[in-house]
Order: sequence, then structure tokens, then C-alpha cells
Amino acid sequence: MAANWKMNLSLDETGDLLERVRGAEVDFTKVDVLVAPPFTTLQLANRLLAGTDILLAGQNMHWEGKGAFTGEISPLMLKEAGCSHVILGHSERRTLFFETNEIINRKVNAAIEAGLIPILCIGETLKERDGKKTFDVIRSQLNESLKTSCQRRDLPESVVLAYEPVWSIGTGKTATPEQAQEVHLFVRRWLGENFDHDSGQGIRILYGGSVRPDNIKELMLQPDIDGALIGGASLRADSFLSIIRFYKG
Ligand code: PEP
Repeated sequence: MAANWKMNLSLDETGDLLERVRGAEVDFTKVDVLVAPPFTTLQLANRLLAGTDILLAGQNMHWEGKGAFTGEISPLMLKEAGCSHVILGHSERRTLFFETNEIINRKVNAAIEAGLIPILCIGETLKERDGKKTFDVIRSQLNESLKTSCQRRDLPESVVLAYEPVWSIGTGKTATPEQAQEVHLFVRRWLGENFDHDSGQGIRILYGGSVRPDNIKELMLQPDIDGALIGGASLRADSFLSIIRFYKG
């Protein structure tokens, strides 16, 4: 269960939320939990999460190791701040910051080289879904952004995928469990064909898009949904915790 806090939460708010999350009863043998705060609160989060099973991620990074890239952050900087993962290719990065599959591919490769696990986001817009282009879009996002990255590596341990239909992010419109399952299965099969059977089976595929306490259970019941990437509902301890503890519901 991965929380994407986007450009939200002050230092104080981060402290309060993490105090509550780390103090809550969670069976970490049943669920892996990760939070992705903004860059300015990563170090605080890292300190507060020390000694817990909760993982830390960046929300973006540059593909270069260092240099004249004003406003950017490098893979090693994220690692130094305590991150094991990094979210890449989020639809907000694609749409608002014009990131292409080619750019995302460079970032995926750089993350893996640096020993970070990319959480690679893919997903179609409403126009693409209505135009029956969902699978074409997903196929080219996979083809172009996972290129060369992992052929020589163990894919399931190196990459996490997140299917996030753009029309469901922050809109309150969750994909139905069947719609999500259909795409997750497609992704798993694509991985099986383009890498190998075990990669397809072993990789974690998260669903993201208006995940809430009242829909997490039905999503998690789908055979190819392994977890969730959660935006809005991860900003409050009560809703984030009830999503994390989906296995109890
Ligand atoms: C996201 O931005 O990754 C996301 C899924 O947001 P929300 O849960 O708010 O739709």
C-alpha cells in the first residue's frame, strides 16, 4: 500500500500523520506499506520511520547523477534521504510537466542502476478509454518506458507497476474492480510475453485512482491487483490506516 502525498503536508502535518501511522496496529506480515512525501519532508519521514517496516519513496527524480539541473533531484540524493523506491511516470508528471515515455524510460533505468525500485505508473485518459484505445496506450507505455531496463535483471524485484487510469485520479471515479482487473491481467500477460513467465507472475501491480476505505476490499479481491497507490485518502491517518488494514475488513 503506497501513499503518494503529492505537494501536501507541512513538517508538522507530516509528523502528526506518521506518528499515528507508526503507532497503529498493522500486521506487516500481511501488508507492505510505503509513503512518498515531498522532498522537503523526506528526511523527517526517514527519521520518524526508523525502526519500522514502513518504506520511503521519492515522487520523482532526474536521470542524471549530478550537474546543472536546477530544481531537480538525483537518484543518489533520494537514496541518501532514505528512499528505497521512487514513483515515476505519474500522470501528473506526464500531463503537467510534459514527461514522455522516453524520459520516463531514462528515469526507470537510472533508478534501477542506483538501486532504487521505480514504481512505474501507466494509465489511459478518458478520451483514450472512450476511443477503445486503453490496451494500445498501456502497451506502448510499457514498450517504451520499460525498454532495456530489466532484461538483464530480476524484474519482479527491480520494478513495481501501478495502473492508474488518468480519469480516476483525484476524481472520486474509481475504476470498477473488473475494469482494473482486466488491465492488470493485460499487463501481467505483456510482461510474461516480453520478459518471461515468472516476471509476469511475480511482479507487483498496484491499482491507483480514488482508492478509499470503502472500495479497497473489492479491488484487492481481484486476482491480479497486488496493492494500491493512494493519493487523497492517504493524507488522513484514519482513511490511510483503514486502507492499509484492508485484510481485516
Ligand atoms: C495518485 O495520484 O496516484 C492517486 C491515485 O490519487 P487519488 O487516490 O487521490 O485518486
